[in-house]
Amino acid sequence: MPRNAPPLSFLALIALSVAACRTSAPVAQSPTTPNVQAQLAQQNVDAVIYQHFSAEVHRLYQQGYELARLRLDAALAKPWPKPPAVVVDIDETVLDNSPYQVTNATLGRTYTPATWKEWTAKGTAKALPGAVEFLNYAKQRGCAVYYISNRETDELGPTLRNLAETGFPMADTAHVLLMAGTSDKTLRRDRVNQTHHIILQVGDQLTDFDQGLKNRGEGQGKPLTDALRDTLEGHFILLPNPMYGAWLDAITGRDLQEIPARKAAILKQDSY
Ligand SMILES: [Mg+2]
Repeated sequence: MPRNAPPLSFLALIALSVAACRTSAPVAQSPTTPNVQAQLAQQNVDAVIYQHFSAEVHRLYQQGYELARLRLDAALAKPWPKPPAVVVDIDETVLDNSPYQVTNATLGRTYTPATWKEWTAKGTAKALPGAVEFLNYAKQRGCAVYYISNRETDELGPTLRNLAETGFPMADTAHVLLMAGTSDKTLRRDRVNQTHHIILQVGDQLTDFDQGLKNRGEGQGKPLTDALRDTLEGHFILLPNPMYGAWLDAITGRDLQEIPARKAAILKQDSY
């Protein structure tokens, strides 16, 4: 700025900032960003180690399913107008995909639909601690079990095989409802509610309970979660997943090129 130039007005500054924003169009997510992929894979390593190796996570799953059994017993003590059902998510809820994340970390790559489907096609994911026992208990108590997952419909065959071979009940096309079009699970829950009463849900994302909990606009979604606390306490079991999820997308977005800077910015914002 020349020494004698008049000061820019506040509005002019805003106009300049808007213009600057317009010129920095987002860079499309692309497999041609190996450096960023390697950086993000590295940033995820501790989360993957925690999920895949730690006795803490092993115990958290057991604990979650122990609580699920208590909640189920309490719900079944009441009469229900329709047959009771339990709804569970699949990934990081009943099946452990941390080997896929371990492989990504090792190869310095991030999630892509293609590599993900290579993994699910194997059908070799192990059951998470407590899951098989809980769902067979629910079946024994007269509950239907539904699996509502955002795996895509072309993953159905190996998913059914994987669930059945690991000992999960009702692993068939009537009870495994995969994603066809939308990741919002509301319509699939509604389908279950037409014939059953969902008494308990289990998942690793808050949206496995209700799509409204995807809203992280205020306080990262914590006030909304607090508002639903009584309902969540009785009807939803949340399991750990530090590797990925709506909680992370809300902060970083999904454009790989932008994610490192966004992570750095939010950490700086809350550092002291
Ligand atoms: Mg999941």
